[in-house]
Amino acid sequence: MKSKIPLMPENKKNQKKSHQASIIYLIIIAFILSGVYVLSNQTPATTVTEINYSTFLSQANGQQIDSLSFTDDRINITLKDGKEEYTVKDPRATPYDLLNDIPLENRQNLNIDIIDSSQSDFWLNLFMQILPFLLIVGFLIFLMRHAQNSNNQALSFGQSKARIYDNNANKKTTFQDVAGSKEAKEELVEIVDFLKNPAKYTAIGAKIPKGVLLIGHPGTGKTLLARAVAGEANVPFFSISGSEFVEMFVGVGASRVRDLFKKAKRNAPCIIFIDEIDAVGRHRGAGLGGGHDEREQTLNQILTEMDGFEVNDNVIIMAATNRPDVLDPALLRPGRFDRRITVDLPTLEERKEILNVHARNKPLVKNIDLRVIARHTPGFSGADLENIMNEAAILAAKKGEKKIDQLDIEKSVEKVMMGPERKSKILSEKEKKITAYHEVGHALVAHNIPECDPVQKISIISRGMALGVTWFLPEEDYMLYSKSKFEGEICSLLGGYVAEQIMFKETTTGPSNDLERATKIAKNMVTKFAMSDIGLTIFGGGQQEVFLGRDYASHTKDYSEKSAEQIDYQVNVILESAYNKTKTILIKNKKKLCEIAEYLLKKETITREEFLNFFKTKEAIVA
Ligand code: ADP
Ligand code: MG
Ligand code: ZN
Repeated sequence: MKSKIPLMPENKKNQKKSHQASIIYLIIIAFILSGVYVLSNQTPATTVTEINYSTFLSQANGQQIDSLSFTDDRINITLKDGKEEYTVKDPRATPYDLLNDIPLENRQNLNIDIIDSSQSDFWLNLFMQILPFLLIVGFLIFLMRHAQNSNNQALSFGQSKARIYDNNANKKTTFQDVAGSKEAKEELVEIVDFLKNPAKYTAIGAKIPKGVLLIGHPGTGKTLLARAVAGEANVPFFSISGSEFVEMFVGVGASRVRDLFKKAKRNAPCIIFIDEIDAVGRHRGAGLGGGHDEREQTLNQILTEMDGFEVNDNVIIMAATNRPDVLDPALLRPGRFDRRITVDLPTLEERKEILNVHARNKPLVKNIDLRVIARHTPGFSGADLENIMNEAAILAAKKGEKKIDQLDIEKSVEKVMMGPERKSKILSEKEKKITAYHEVGHALVAHNIPECDPVQKISIISRGMALGVTWFLPEEDYMLYSKSKFEGEICSLLGGYVAEQIMFKETTTGPSNDLERATKIAKNMVTKFAMSDIGLTIFGGGQQEVFLGRDYASHTKDYSEKSAEQIDYQVNVILESAYNKTKTILIKNKKKLCEIAEYLLKKETITREEFLNFFKTKEAIVA
């Protein structure tokens, strides 16, 4: 995966680094030396005792001294019995002055040594005097180099920072690494073939496409697919991210584009890959908030360069985006990015395959069922699934297991969906009880409405913001939602609220998120899907995402006050009727509600089987 190599030669970079390092070493050595100097100048820690001058004189007169040596500020004394002493002397007094204090007959046998301390310290002193200059010079050199580096950087600004993928690396990405996305791969195989045998296509007059645009949600594997094309085609592959075109200085982007295309032409046949092209390819003239001039220039340059390519240049430009709606139409017209490949969120089968790909280098226990995991994860992207397998491996490693088991993966799905369990969050008995009834309320209502997904698990261990969680497990991925499915969903969302109301006579802040979601579904039913009595009109233009600029105007309300009132009324009708239905279900099942909630309070987590058991026993008794 990490097979990118920078275009700048490694050794040049290293050289630069080692220069800087040696200067830093020089400075450190200088500091150490000066430290040594300071230490060496301190009084030696000793067995040599200090005596005062009169003691010295009396020792001299008693002829106890064997030898003397004079330094600047001391007299070092060696006694005849081998003991060593010193006494402090006035630096201005010469040895001759001092010796005069001792009568001649007492100093005749003394060995006298005069040490010129200025001599011995000559080199050190010299060094200490030069040191500050050395430091300053070193610092200056350091600064100059630094400045030079940034100069170089400024000069190379206009060059593209495109990276070439190393096709020789043994870990190159191929289509094998991309699970699912069958249609996308089929289209891309064609591109690979264009690059490998261009003659085959040009011979019968087929034009080789210039631009391929990969469109899809984040994490669906667009970048991965582009890398796989590079790996399969075995041609040079220049990869750059849209945001890299845009820098501090105006004009840099355009010049980078020029440079990139020039490089590519020299290396043809090859692929240019522009990741996250929406960073530069936005609708021109939509620049609210400034800075759009630079982007426009960059985009214009890309368009010009793409037109400048000849059919037989054999350079294919790939780009990826998750916001095709904001791209400038000029990018999308024929002759530019006219091949558009949509990379969808993976289906159930594809999720299983992706899980398989990411389980390849992980030890799993034998009987693991990745299909169940795939069923748990509708709407997950390839990147999410990769994350799940990784989290599972971490969980298993934490527990000290050698292999990953089903439970590890299921736990990691829950963690990725809801955040980690927060066992430290202590709820009071009352709060726990309310949470238990609330969650069982969701589950019971869903169980009693055929359109609702089956209950998978109920838990009152808090996670992230939620105090409790009820999981549902859809049988398969839905492409279409019916009105009754929406209504069922609203009912099960209201289940928590109604359960609290029935059991405790008042409600808490707990259901606020549930109510918000229920309201949103109801609103969408009215304004987007014409599922209410209000008629066929769609309100709000179906616009969801705000792109500052282009859609600015269309985001103001496009319906009258009267319609707004009607919408509010219809939303309320939907919620009201769902509320009544929910209440009926829960009152009818109040006994079950209590039974299951009390069980949940004891166990904290109930599995699907345990939940279903509550209904089996009854049926068994009836039968
Ligand atoms: P995008 O560029 O579409 O946002 P990436 O290509 O960067 O997504 O995908 C992120 C990661 O998710 C990849 O590195 C890969 O490990 C994983 N992934 C995504 N889709 C797939 C897939 N179809 N098969 C295998 N792995 C995938
Ligand atoms: Mg990407
Ligand atoms: Zn709830």
